[in-house]
Amino acid sequence: MSVRVEKTEKLKNKPQTKDIPFGQVFTDHMFVLDYKEDEGWYDPRIVPYEPITLDPAAMIFHYGQTVFEGLKAYRTKDGEALLFRPEKNMERLNKSNRRMSIPEIDEEEVLEYVKQLVSLEKEWVPQFEGTSLYIRPFIISTEPNLAVAPSKTYKLMIILSPVGPYFAGGMKPVRIKVEDEFTRAVKGGTGAAKTAGNYSAAYRAQANAKQEGHADVLWMDGVEKRYIEEVGSMNIFFKIDGKVVTPALSGSILEGVTRMSVLELLKDWDIPVEERKISIAELYQYYEDGKLEEAFGAGTAAVISPVGRLDWLGNTMTINNEEVGPLAKRLYDEITGIQLGEKKDTKGWSV
Ligand code: PMP
Repeated sequence: MSVRVEKTEKLKNKPQTKDIPFGQVFTDHMFVLDYKEDEGWYDPRIVPYEPITLDPAAMIFHYGQTVFEGLKAYRTKDGEALLFRPEKNMERLNKSNRRMSIPEIDEEEVLEYVKQLVSLEKEWVPQFEGTSLYIRPFIISTEPNLAVAPSKTYKLMIILSPVGPYFAGGMKPVRIKVEDEFTRAVKGGTGAAKTAGNYSAAYRAQANAKQEGHADVLWMDGVEKRYIEEVGSMNIFFKIDGKVVTPALSGSILEGVTRMSVLELLKDWDIPVEERKISIAELYQYYEDGKLEEAFGAGTAAVISPVGRLDWLGNTMTINNEEVGPLAKRLYDEITGIQLGEKKDTKGWSV
């Protein structure tokens, strides 16, 4: 569908440093697409970034029927803006839609809308090292109706936010608490969908962990609380005795685009990988045997975030002397190199 463009008359000032707080600065324009039952998705438009008006009875406020995505545009040395595997985010948006009873989108069309908006806002893709333009597509249920049922109307919006480097002072391993009280997701639940409730439900555990000096929590499975799932907004990897182990997609883990990229790279590099169930007790045994070589999270925000310490009940696992491990570093350099157009993209990941 062709996009109607209404440009703003008043351009905002763009950040002039790389210290841009995450998610607080927004560009001049946003994309909007509406849905109603008899028309499907209609009226794609780029309009000035501004607050929207919703009825207080809009279903999003009551039952949280909503999904979102997160990806980034990176500025290359030649001044181009590159997206990293954005079709995967569109696929995942539809997976989330199906789980949350939201009508599916046309993935190719919405990707075109993303590109069109980023092109228009190209000057907003920051140039400083480690910076990027965060892209947040999301869908909200808008029907004014308190009935507990799927909405008949929706709004898909795309907003853009320039962000600073995730690691301000260079890559730094974090301390993570193995969560033993709260649960993020269960098999058959919504953990594999990118939907608001998964995130707000995690705040309580994350706040407790932060009080104890941890950066985030490592979630266990929701039934037995034995098997490792993922970190706050990252998938988790362990290097054990020369092999890489990551929890298999259980139905309650979000399938990260970074995760799938790490798995493909490891395969290319002939590093053995196991996607399987791994319990925290098994991991601790490897640690005690001196076989736990590295641990790192993988996600769009940090790309790779090394884990220097894991605290599980009374047990502390100090990993690689809380230093950045060679595999984490290699993966980080390779993926960010491709994202920035500096490394050869043999896989067609950059768009
Ligand atoms: N798990 C969760 C719960 C997340 O929110 C994210 C971020 N989208 C990830 C994992 C990592 O996914 P990606 O690599 O696509 O950013």
